[in-house]
Amino acid sequence: MKRTPVTVTDPQPGTPTPGVSGPVTVPAVSVASSANLTRNSRAERARMPVALAVVEEVAISHGVCIRPITQRVTDTVTGEITLVDVPCGATMEAKCPPCAERGRRLRMHQCRAGWHAESDPIPNPDPSTSAQRELAEVRADVTAVRDEFLALGDVDSAQAATETLEQLDRELAALGVRGSLEPDKATSGRRTRSTKRRQDAPDLPKKAMAKTTLGRTFPGNGGTVYRPSMFLTVTLPSYGRVDRTTGAPVNPGTYDYRSAARDALHFSRLLDRLVQNLRRVAGYDVQYFATVEPQRRLAPHAHFAIRGTIPRTLLHQVIAATYHQVWWPATDTPVYTDPHRVPIWDIDATGEDGGYLDPGTGAMLPTWDEALDDLDELADLYAATGNAAEIEPQHVVRFGAQADIKGLVSGTPDADRRIGYLAKYLTKDIASCHADTDGDPAVAAHTDRMVEALRFEPCSPTCANWLRYGIQPKNARDGLTPGACKAKAHKREHLGYGGRRVLVSRKWSGKTLADHRHERRAFVLALLGIDPDTEQATAGDKTADRYMWEPMNPADAPPLATRLLHAITRRQTWRAAYESARDGNGPPPVDSPSIPEPRIAESATEGDDCR
Ligand SMILES: [Zn+2]
Ligand SMILES: [Zn+2]
Repeated sequence: MKRTPVTVTDPQPGTPTPGVSGPVTVPAVSVASSANLTRNSRAERARMPVALAVVEEVAISHGVCIRPITQRVTDTVTGEITLVDVPCGATMEAKCPPCAERGRRLRMHQCRAGWHAESDPIPNPDPSTSAQRELAEVRADVTAVRDEFLALGDVDSAQAATETLEQLDRELAALGVRGSLEPDKATSGRRTRSTKRRQDAPDLPKKAMAKTTLGRTFPGNGGTVYRPSMFLTVTLPSYGRVDRTTGAPVNPGTYDYRSAARDALHFSRLLDRLVQNLRRVAGYDVQYFATVEPQRRLAPHAHFAIRGTIPRTLLHQVIAATYHQVWWPATDTPVYTDPHRVPIWDIDATGEDGGYLDPGTGAMLPTWDEALDDLDELADLYAATGNAAEIEPQHVVRFGAQADIKGLVSGTPDADRRIGYLAKYLTKDIASCHADTDGDPAVAAHTDRMVEALRFEPCSPTCANWLRYGIQPKNARDGLTPGACKAKAHKREHLGYGGRRVLVSRKWSGKTLADHRHERRAFVLALLGIDPDTEQATAGDKTADRYMWEPMNPADAPPLATRLLHAITRRQTWRAAYESARDGNGPPPVDSPSIPEPRIAESATEGDDCR
């Protein structure tokens, strides 16, 4: 992927590249206190702001990235080398506040772009051609042959057929067919039994789906058309009573940390199910922009901007009926609890791959696939013997009773306020969204207990914690220790939720985040009266094929303070040009040295607090 530099080098040929050589213009930054250094005591000196920290603060106040990455850009035609600072692009405020804020605003823009769309952002696919249909039929025949060989155990012939299928798929793709006809795992052939069979759909009224992503519209007076949409908040169930202000449990001893941990781990799957069920009952291809955030009690919840409206009672019905079953081996009884007696890796255990052995007997632990086969066999056994008992999922996750549903009409202040609400915590990690309870001992203890509850819960089939329950994790390898899984979900910053914080359906705006970024840049250029195709606009935008981008060793890059000071100066210049143009004070100064970053001034939209 090509990078689009946002920080732009000086477009005038022959002038020194900012940040590389030439004098550094220091803007009005007060670092004067350092002049008194010699007259102060060591303790006083320690309290003084460090020069770099001061520059960083100024950079932040100007919206300039504080951790820019220097790239060496070589013009392969002229041989000219330029150093370009690219913003770090961090999404978390703790890493880089200006980049995180820019990312948050881009997400708000993306949310706004799709919520009340008036036409389907992605048109329906064209009908298939006869050539495509013919080839698909051939593919079906070869698939049948392949399956027959597989059933006969003739692996070589099956492999040959698989290669033919791959060839056919390439030809289909060449004919303009999107997507794949067969998921990859179909040929390797495991895991299609009980784990799938038991993930049944809830009992909900089903409606035929219209080929549209748009909801209903309602005519108003004087030709206006109302386009109502929805804002939905779904939460997880209660694990015990919590303090309303801090979110900490009233009785930590009885608070159900285990359920809280497991629900958080599988929350993203539950959200997937919700969307599937919604589409099944809504009668149209429901599109959404959702964000996942923690409540004060540290359980994740999700806000959904939904295009179109679904009757409230039906929506409540769908939320109540939605659940996700986790078909994993049971984890009620740990097998290895002594940290000094854990399964041992043996490189020769399975001949080539290695595996984990019981530390006492030296017997190999069941592999992940074997453990799932055991589950299937048990289910088959129950079914064959007419036993009423059924195997239980490791966990079932459902929503809590509290669901907040709001109807909205496009273009109203409330709709805009909700966008701010959706994006409010995006730049903070899960554990630090509620700054006002920072340092509260009850909250800190609650967080500790949540982390502890997550420590030994398996987060995925590949989690090291399976060893604690006597099962080799999927893709087992040397160096796994139960209780020390490195996955995101176990970390304090994530508290069980390892998924993405923003979930956007494919046909929300029909554009990628990069598309939206370009759109915003074009908007600013237009405001400044600059044609995006001119030399002035593209001088710093070295994305053409003739430019070769290479990351530069940070040790060889100019000092960070120098680079930040240059960036601040550039920012001030274009900011002035941008504001002048925005306020209608005529065109920007002609000698504007660089193109503004794609940033649109937006009124601050503070949402309500998340509870
Ligand atoms: Zn940054
Ligand atoms: Zn894990």
